[in-house]
Amino acid sequence: MRDYYDYDYDYDYDDTTKGGGKGGGKEASKVLFFPSLSSKRRERLASRLMTLGSLVLKKNATNAEEKEDLWEETRTNVLSLRRVRVPTSALFDAANNESFGEEEEEKNNICLSAANEGGLVSGCAIKIDARNGVILDVWRESEDDGGKEKEEEKNELVVDCENCLLFPCFLDAHTHLIKTHTVERCRNPTGSIPDALGCELADQPRWMDVQDERTMKTDFERRFDFAVRSALYYGAIGIRTHLDGTNNLENKILRDKVFEVFARKRNELLETRGVYLQGVCNLFLPLWSEPGIADEFAKVAAANNDNEGGDSVLLGAYCGVVGRGETNNDQARKHFRNLFSYANKYAMNIDVHIDETNDPNCCAVLSCLEAFLNDDDGNLRTFKNIRSLSLSHVCSLSLQSKATIDRVIELAKKIDKKTSTRVSFIVNPLTNLGLQDRRGTTDGVGVLIDKNIPHTPRWRGIAPIQELESAGINVCTGTDNVRDYWNPYADYDGIATLKATFEVAQLNTVPNEGYWTKLIAANSAKAMFTKLPTPKIGLIRKGYRADFILLPQARSFYELFSRPSQHERIVFRKGRPTLDCVLPDFSELDETVAVRTDAAPFLDGDVEIKRGATSLASSFSKRKNRPEEEAAEV
Ligand SMILES: [Zn+2]
Repeated sequence: MRDYYDYDYDYDYDDTTKGGGKGGGKEASKVLFFPSLSSKRRERLASRLMTLGSLVLKKNATNAEEKEDLWEETRTNVLSLRRVRVPTSALFDAANNESFGEEEEEKNNICLSAANEGGLVSGCAIKIDARNGVILDVWRESEDDGGKEKEEEKNELVVDCENCLLFPCFLDAHTHLIKTHTVERCRNPTGSIPDALGCELADQPRWMDVQDERTMKTDFERRFDFAVRSALYYGAIGIRTHLDGTNNLENKILRDKVFEVFARKRNELLETRGVYLQGVCNLFLPLWSEPGIADEFAKVAAANNDNEGGDSVLLGAYCGVVGRGETNNDQARKHFRNLFSYANKYAMNIDVHIDETNDPNCCAVLSCLEAFLNDDDGNLRTFKNIRSLSLSHVCSLSLQSKATIDRVIELAKKIDKKTSTRVSFIVNPLTNLGLQDRRGTTDGVGVLIDKNIPHTPRWRGIAPIQELESAGINVCTGTDNVRDYWNPYADYDGIATLKATFEVAQLNTVPNEGYWTKLIAANSAKAMFTKLPTPKIGLIRKGYRADFILLPQARSFYELFSRPSQHERIVFRKGRPTLDCVLPDFSELDETVAVRTDAAPFLDGDVEIKRGATSLASSFSKRKNRPEEEAAEV
């Protein structure tokens, strides 16, 4: 099995391990490139695309010099994809009803009114500089006359895509790559937040295990690596992961290893694929007011932030229940200000896990925005060096009054307008549909829902994104937990996450799916990147990177989302199709899950686990304690 970073665009038929062999010819190439074919259209598209590049030319070259010449020739290729259907929000900022400029619109024939009822613009053509990986032009022709395969100019390849969908490569703004793929060894017995915490604390000591002495990779690195390969297969170009384990204040070996693996992966992905990886270091919110802990934590996180590349490591918090007992609103504002002061000092951005509760009285987001905007006397204060404030989850905001939601919107807009910081809301429907309003919830993370009493969830656990977005606030969606104690399913497929968001938030008719595709593309890019120059990703536009996903099985959102799985992708990176990229097989992880984690003693005792706990030892309190008493023990 080839590792993702071993992969190179320069296919070489001399490598017999790939199934071709010298002079392997056409049949051999089929063995190599179509290991999991399931649709004829993908086969046709892949065949047409294979005439691009060095595939045929290189195998006849007999010496290095000749190969070099052919490589150069290859690299001058221009590729035109004809007859693709592109979501409106990938072509322009549909929120503002914005088309291209008039002149450009006339030239390229693309405008909002050209979209169909699903928000797709049909008959699009995209010309790519395959040598530099940049989109040269985007225009629209009739969907019937496009796609004629002809050599238009020297080295130009024209490929008919038969009206299938084309999305920009996606950005997943919220994931947990350190604890992923652990569910098979540590199942959350109730699916609730307290048991997720209990499982995580019991399982965390195993993250540093080494199961295979040949590679000496730690347990979490193997799972992390597997997760990244899946994300690459599906078409990720940006991933923000929370760096779980760095908040274990008693295990510096784990902390340092997480930073080391993260930095290595980030560099590899950027160099080999042009894929961006970001990490967030979280503390339990009240700990930001304890200098003995926060000083070193922020310093270490800052030392791992690569300011040259920008936005590589962020600061964050697990906020718990705010406004009732555990942390009141005044305390919360103080903690947030301390967090912002550290971030401002080190010029880092922020992403917080906030209001991930089922408590209608919990509205930390209000305290957070107030603390960001004003001091206690109401004077405007600016944390100038913080350019991005991401608010992840914000589930319980949906349980608040309209007046509270309006106030949150007002504050977020004020920050956008009056400061240099952009506020973004990141919703995580897959995880929160599972966690919120669930049997087994305890006081510590919301309203008690006894696990012994039948209880079907009454609400969806998603922030009011329609209201936020229509007010002009940036919203996007993240996959969040994948196959761990928090969410037993999912697989880092941004398009599957998009589908879940459509269903949970009922977005398909307001106005259509194409409008909201930005939740995993342009809007996620806005949340993840704020410093200039921002990478040109997330849109299908002239001058942007030619990194996108062809979906050979789907010509509409109905086709895309109706079949149980839409695994088939042809992902272009740097202007070239990555046709030999395959999904890793779960059996690769068998060793990591062979032994079960015994979490039972923690789950059924008379103790309650605190949200944001930093280690096993400091995590428990007597279940019957008053929340006020618990706060003092943190
Ligand atoms: Zn999360």
